[in-house]
Amino acid sequence: MSETSTGAAGLSDTSAAHERSRLSFDLDADICVVGAGLAGLTVALEAARLGASVAVLEGRHVGWNASGHQLGTVMPGYGLPVGELIARVGFEDARKLWSLSRQGADLVRANASEELMPGIGLTEGALEVSKIDVGDQLISRLKMLSEDFETEVEGWQVDRVREQLKTGHYFHGAYYPKAFQVDGRKYIHGLAALARRAGARIFEDTPVVSIDPSGIRKRIVTPSARLRASHIVLAGNIHLGAPLKRLSETLLPVWRYAAVTAPLGERLAEAITFQGSVTDSDGVDHFRIVDGDRLMWSSPETTWAARPQRFAGAIERRIRTIFPRLGKVEISDVFGGAVGQTVHGMPQIGQLRKGLWVTSGFGRQGLNTSAMAGQLIAQSILRGDERWRLFSPFELVWAGGPTGRVAGHIVGMWGRGNSAAAGVLARYRERARARERIREARLVEANRQAGTRPPRPRPPPGQPRPARPAPPAAVEPGAPAQGESENG
Ligand SMILES: Cc1cc2nc3c(=O)[nH]c(=O)nc-3n(C[C@H](O)[C@H](O)[C@H](O)COP(=O)(O)OP(=O)(O)OC[C@H]3O[C@@H](n4cnc5c(N)ncnc54)[C@H](O)[C@@H]3O)c2cc1C
Repeated sequence: MSETSTGAAGLSDTSAAHERSRLSFDLDADICVVGAGLAGLTVALEAARLGASVAVLEGRHVGWNASGHQLGTVMPGYGLPVGELIARVGFEDARKLWSLSRQGADLVRANASEELMPGIGLTEGALEVSKIDVGDQLISRLKMLSEDFETEVEGWQVDRVREQLKTGHYFHGAYYPKAFQVDGRKYIHGLAALARRAGARIFEDTPVVSIDPSGIRKRIVTPSARLRASHIVLAGNIHLGAPLKRLSETLLPVWRYAAVTAPLGERLAEAITFQGSVTDSDGVDHFRIVDGDRLMWSSPETTWAARPQRFAGAIERRIRTIFPRLGKVEISDVFGGAVGQTVHGMPQIGQLRKGLWVTSGFGRQGLNTSAMAGQLIAQSILRGDERWRLFSPFELVWAGGPTGRVAGHIVGMWGRGNSAAAGVLARYRERARARERIREARLVEANRQAGTRPPRPRPPPGQPRPARPAPPAAVEPGAPAQGESENG
């Protein structure tokens, strides 16, 4: 995984610069957090802000996995579409869960101020585009989001989308003016800095090799030290491993790769004028402009770990397919990380047994959801807030082990293949409609010039031609015209 900064502030990032310390002495704390990704660091920050003593144990370094290699887009909601959320938990609880997801985004916004995280480069607005022509479906979803889920969202017609994104691959769009993006890498290191400032201690190169969650004071074992804490929060995502293997097995790991192009100059502005993040409704492509004239693009996925550099060519081709007018683009950096997908598509947030917590399974949408989870868990431990129970219907489900990974890959490929095929079909239909409109206009013009009427439309094959209408009957003066009744 490379160490690319994912924002307009450029590729040189100094925010990660701090002295790494490994836990080499036994320690007591109120809360021990396993994992220094977005999930673990948000719990640590929130709990430390509420006055708890917190130790974070990280096996590698802050932001080592997905959290240090994300694109920084902060949207409301979850990986699970809102319709499916309602089907699963009912309308009222879906509304509450959705509102929590917005609170998560608000928390990221509050943390990501220039004052707290200099150079974070927060910019507003994100656009979700459809790859098939589904205007009606989109409008009903937008209506529900804005009327029932208090989310600001605008429907964009195809023309408006294509004014900003010069490609025939996208149709309608949903524009979220309150969504935003930040420099993803700066955010994770900024979060670590805020947590430290609030009093949390972060130990890197400190893998947790086992835990004993029984008893009031729980024990945590690392290669060179032991820790005792009243609460353990497992935030290790797919790499958690030995401390609770069965928990890791409830996640399907998906490696996602992204690239940043070399500066593209004027040609980028000619192809893309939208300045926020763009995601497609199938979750295949996700991109935005960084540094003024570079494109940051995330697309391919695998269910096994691979070197991100292997995907440079695939990302370059994908960019060219969607925006042919860009021509060949040079890739200057490739990076990636593994996200944990749950079987039901919702994150794992809650208490497994007294004092043992989990915050994981955030999939591709981890910024707002992990922030909300951190806040819920810290407030539950320290303030008795029980709202995390809203996530109880989404229990831990075994993700199928290695067979599940193969199945997940096939399902993913099928879904992507399907959406690509649907996109091709939608674009074909659109071209056919345009050709038909041109043909009709030419016919009308030819008839006008020739002074003739257009021919009657042919009946569909197998159906008789309709009878010619009878010539109008001669109307006697004072008699009612055809269709008029005698008495009115
Ligand atoms: C290319 C890409 C782009 C993305 N873009 C976005 C985006 O724009 N917006 C968005 O919302 N989301 C995005 N995501 C998703 C987001 O990055 C993830 O959902 C999120 O980072 C998950 O955070 P986490 O803390 O749960 O996991 P991780 O980032 O995996 O962190 C877990 C940490 O725990 C540590 N750990 C594990 N086990 C142990 C152990 N036993 N002992 C000690 N430490 C341990 C690991 O070393 C790791 O550092 C993207 C993901 C990728 C890969």
